[in-house]
Amino acid sequence: MDIVVTGGAGFIGSHLCARLLELGHRVTCVDNLAVGSEENIADIANYPQFRFLRHDVTQPLELQTQAVFHLASRASPPAYLYYPLETAPANSLGTYMLLEMAQRSQAKFLMASTSEIYGDPLEHPQREEYWGNVNSIGIRSCYDESKRFAESLTMTYVRHKGVDARIVRIFNCYGPRCDDGRVVPNFVGQAVRGEPITVHGDGEHTRSLCYVSDMVDGLIAAMFTENTKGGVFNLGNPEEHTMLELAQIVKDICRSSSPIVHIPSISEDDPKRRCPDISRARCVLGWEPKVGLTEGLEETIAWFRKRSK
Ligand code: UDP
Repeated sequence: MDIVVTGGAGFIGSHLCARLLELGHRVTCVDNLAVGSEENIADIANYPQFRFLRHDVTQPLELQTQAVFHLASRASPPAYLYYPLETAPANSLGTYMLLEMAQRSQAKFLMASTSEIYGDPLEHPQREEYWGNVNSIGIRSCYDESKRFAESLTMTYVRHKGVDARIVRIFNCYGPRCDDGRVVPNFVGQAVRGEPITVHGDGEHTRSLCYVSDMVDGLIAAMFTENTKGGVFNLGNPEEHTMLELAQIVKDICRSSSPIVHIPSISEDDPKRRCPDISRARCVLGWEPKVGLTEGLEETIAWFRKRSK
């Protein structure tokens, strides 16, 4: 198939492009390189079935394609808090431009949403039916509200324009090429360099961490499983850890002498608990994560060590 991946030079996007090429598809990677990089796609840049298009998704795009994975957005809190005026349009206007393109091409469409649409959740674990607890005017709203709008727009195109679209809600993902201020790359980088590991607040906040190869499998399953038009799927690993536990696990695997220190959180409205209920993805997509935290962290640490040589 001819497939477009927006944000294809980013962390998850670059892994997704590589997997789609392996599966024999032709891939057009669309990215403005605001957070993605040519380094991320260096391994696949010369594949004949691959092309890179530098483009800002808020501008109209005309490509004939059979499937669109829309991943283009800043996704790390430090990045979107610093660039709110780029983040909100990428998710709102960008999603509109790509849904229009998908409709004209009669292409399948996958909107990469986020666990952030649940805000600071009052239900635990989070099921797709839960509507969330979001501060619509808080500093994180440039991201979580624009993703909520993107979900709304996607469902509107399903209902009123017949677009074959689905939504996935990505819970915290990590792995090689993720180095953008999120918790795993921060802790791993600090442990590898022997610097203090910076736990925000008391470290009792929880996250559930999914390794990138599992996430890519989930994205592909959501796009290509029959009868998923209009479907909404949580994708993540339901194994939940406090951030203090994570700091200790990273420190142990790295055999690091870094002290674990507590610093103030950079963000108000930081969700206190986050864990996906993935029953729907298990049942409808036949998908569940396979890579455990230790194995995934070992791969990630190896990438950090190689890169810092
Ligand atoms: N966090 C931390 N130390 C860091 C970076 C993040 O303790 O150096 C915490 C952060 O406050 C949050 C959790 O780790 O509670 C996950 O943060 P991340 O930035 O990875 O993404 P989020 O899940 O908030 O979107």
